[in-house]
Amino acid sequence: MADVLLRGGRVIDSNGERRADVLVAGSKVQAVAEGLSAPTGALVLDVGGCIVSPGLVDLHCHLREPGQEESECVETGTRSAALGGYTAVVAMPNTDPPVDSGSMVRDLAELGRSSLVEMAVAGAITVGRNGSRLAPMAEMASLGVKIFTDDGAGVQDSALMRNAMEYAAGIGVTIAEHAEDASLAAGGQMHEGSWSSRLGLPGSAAVAEEVMVARDLALARLTGARLHLMHLSTAGSIALVRQARMDGIQVTAEVTPHHLSLTDGALASYDPNLKMSPPLRSAEDVNAVRAGVAQSVVDAIATDHAPHPLEAKEVPFADAANGVIGLETALAVALTVLVSGSGPFIADVASGEDACVEGASAALGAPPDGAVGASGLLGIQELLALMSWKPARIACLDHSQGGPVVPGSQANICVVDLDAAWVVDPDRFASRSRNTPFRGWKLFGKVLHTICNGEPVVLDGEPQR
Ligand SMILES: [Zn+2]
Repeated sequence: MADVLLRGGRVIDSNGERRADVLVAGSKVQAVAEGLSAPTGALVLDVGGCIVSPGLVDLHCHLREPGQEESECVETGTRSAALGGYTAVVAMPNTDPPVDSGSMVRDLAELGRSSLVEMAVAGAITVGRNGSRLAPMAEMASLGVKIFTDDGAGVQDSALMRNAMEYAAGIGVTIAEHAEDASLAAGGQMHEGSWSSRLGLPGSAAVAEEVMVARDLALARLTGARLHLMHLSTAGSIALVRQARMDGIQVTAEVTPHHLSLTDGALASYDPNLKMSPPLRSAEDVNAVRAGVAQSVVDAIATDHAPHPLEAKEVPFADAANGVIGLETALAVALTVLVSGSGPFIADVASGEDACVEGASAALGAPPDGAVGASGLLGIQELLALMSWKPARIACLDHSQGGPVVPGSQANICVVDLDAAWVVDPDRFASRSRNTPFRGWKLFGKVLHTICNGEPVVLDGEPQR
């Protein structure tokens, strides 16, 4: 593997920002300083003006292998991740069959050989993810599993969840929850509110999420378990986590790019690519989630990359599958709506009104009605914290991921051109699926290069394998 010299970039990591060249040799960062000379045979990349950051870490993606390879597989999903600037992902266990045993963890590790980036495997909390009996968590933990979740559904049985948390606390792993009370959410097609009434679609109320968030926080307090709340989407959930932090409960929380950038008003299009669980929420909820991000109540932005084949989405809204893909757009969406402050569409976020872009033309790359505009809420370093080093810590990947770009560190790096604008064209995705809610959006920030364990897996926006 040739050495790689990144010349002239702005290095931003948990230590701060400095202008420096970065020399990668083997799988490690060898030198970080201004004016480094290139060793013979090194690949020299001019990254003047670009951000050089620790690679991104996604806490929540669905790679669909084994069992649903028509949607995605480890190879295509992790290629998609690398193109998005990720050097590590946590694969959800709701495959077919699910990852609920030691032998399945071993099978996934085997599939991980085709991964372009580091792939951590999450294990199921219950056998078959059916919510009735605990899976052999200790066996899976002994094989390196750090996060357990029945994602796709919440654990409905409170006593079982208590047992899971007691067990998890004992073996030092994290319980991650898809917080949704199934009885309250039953039949819901979108967020319950004024838009669901207007559109005539059955709603799923915010309390379906909040009831389970409150229960899990109470159980985490009781058991001392580490709880990670996935894809939080409501103002009430954010308030509960804010209070739990003050009460000393061990909780972390993630939100998704789509819940930060779209409201339920977007559903006026009845586009099945806007259907997901939890659903897009009200503008008030979006503002509260954004405030949670800005005020460090939220620890991570995760994609919930959920690929589906066309036939699962090109159907009437009521019949469409839940979920959107996100690995190739997450960073740019977050940069555009949270950081740039000068994105392609500006809305009065503080007012809590639905943000509608009148007369917007898809041809100009403008987002649809229901999109919420740029806010300038975060600095670039704060955003990278949410997408790299904080999730690395939650996933216990911080020995190799998210660390400062210093000599001797593992060379997991992404290079981003903040000024590059681009229009989302799903037909160009490496993902096997096309179900993005951001088709046609003009976004700022393009991943140029991704280096994974010293290997350039993406160069100039092109995958190298
Ligand atoms: Zn989920």
